[in-house]
Amino acid sequence: MNNFDVVIIGGGTAGLILARELGKKKHKTLVLDRKKDLLEFSFNTLGSFLNLKEFDLTEGVVAQEINTISLHSKNMKRKVKSDLYILDKKKVHIELLNSLDPEYVVIKTGIDIKSITKKNNTFTTVIDKNKEAYFGKIFIDASGTNAVISKKVGLRSKKVDLATGVEYNVKYLGNPAEGHLLIGKVYQGGYGWIFPLKNQRAIIGFGTFDDEIVKGLKERLHKILELPNIKKLVVKDNEKVEGGSIPITPVLDKFVLHNLVCVGDSVSQVNPIVGEGYKFIFEAALIASKAIHKSLENKNLNHLTEYETDWKNRFLLNYQRSKRSQERFFKYSQNNFLMDYILFLSKFVSDKRAVRSLSGEYGLDKV
Ligand SMILES: Cc1cc2nc3c(=O)[nH]c(=O)nc-3n(C[C@H](O)[C@H](O)[C@H](O)COP(=O)(O)OP(=O)(O)OC[C@H]3O[C@@H](n4cnc5c(N)ncnc54)[C@H](O)[C@@H]3O)c2cc1C
Repeated sequence: MNNFDVVIIGGGTAGLILARELGKKKHKTLVLDRKKDLLEFSFNTLGSFLNLKEFDLTEGVVAQEINTISLHSKNMKRKVKSDLYILDKKKVHIELLNSLDPEYVVIKTGIDIKSITKKNNTFTTVIDKNKEAYFGKIFIDASGTNAVISKKVGLRSKKVDLATGVEYNVKYLGNPAEGHLLIGKVYQGGYGWIFPLKNQRAIIGFGTFDDEIVKGLKERLHKILELPNIKKLVVKDNEKVEGGSIPITPVLDKFVLHNLVCVGDSVSQVNPIVGEGYKFIFEAALIASKAIHKSLENKNLNHLTEYETDWKNRFLLNYQRSKRSQERFFKYSQNNFLMDYILFLSKFVSDKRAVRSLSGEYGLDKV
């Protein structure tokens, strides 16, 4: 199969769900990824408020179901009743790979894309590191944090702030249905999480977008592990560190240039407030797939910008609000007293509203 309708750079979260949707609509789609094995990741578990059915995923991808999220500052604890999934990243991606239509979707691994070529106002090929060219009618940058094309064409700035996180898989002594978020100076001024798994295991992680703190991330997580309240919850029993980075940019809303469409971390579609990417990227990919389908059906690339319009209608206000909250939280995280006070005040906010803020879905308040 040659002459692809769509060439997707990146077979991660965004690329695979987009390939699935385009395959369903019988568009010839080529997915290129620089990794040799699409199921190799630098971390393996995720927390998500997503609705599995909405994205055609089964319960098989769930590592643990959570019904309570506990927010911890130095001296305060606020329990919020909420459903949250801890997802097994590998299982999510296996389900996505199995759902691709082999008649329409081709995956090539070990292909490291380096550039894109343009003739007049149309992108014509992407070129890999061996100078091999791949042709398509529409190109998708789904290359994640690397943002290989979106940076080149100016849809994302070249210098980008990153939030970086490290994680350990540890023994868990707490309630398996209770997840934990750790905020405040006592938690090293960053942002920590404990995601319970099955069999009395959990993931404990710590992340920040402060350049100074990033330098000693692992050592800071070790200090968190020594705190008495954390020692009651987890025991570190191995040395394997997992982790990675998420782009923290100002909120972007331009994702299309001519016949190039960008989805996922390549244009920073992670919700700023808790760094949740999956739900938001899945939904953005579904929105993008509709605009791509319409463009190909009507042979009119102008429809591609409907992705931007629909994304803005669905997400822009939520993202702007999440970004402001993220910036405020970062400031308050440097002060234990302030964070305690905020958690105390949060007790007057209903669980439902607290979950809306945590999940970055403020807009639902208006429904
Ligand atoms: C430590 C950490 C914890 C996180 N926790 C959560 C969480 O709890 N919940 C949540 O929802 N989200 C979480 N996220 C965010 C989420 O993982 C990302 O937002 C999401 O995976 C991004 O998807 P993507 O498809 O844009 O990029 P990716 O999934 O990273 O896929 C990009 C793909 O592009 C390929 N690629 C890159 N460059 C090239 C190139 N030049 N040529 C060809 N291929 C290329 C890569 O190999 C990769 O396969 C976390 C992220 C990190 C780092």
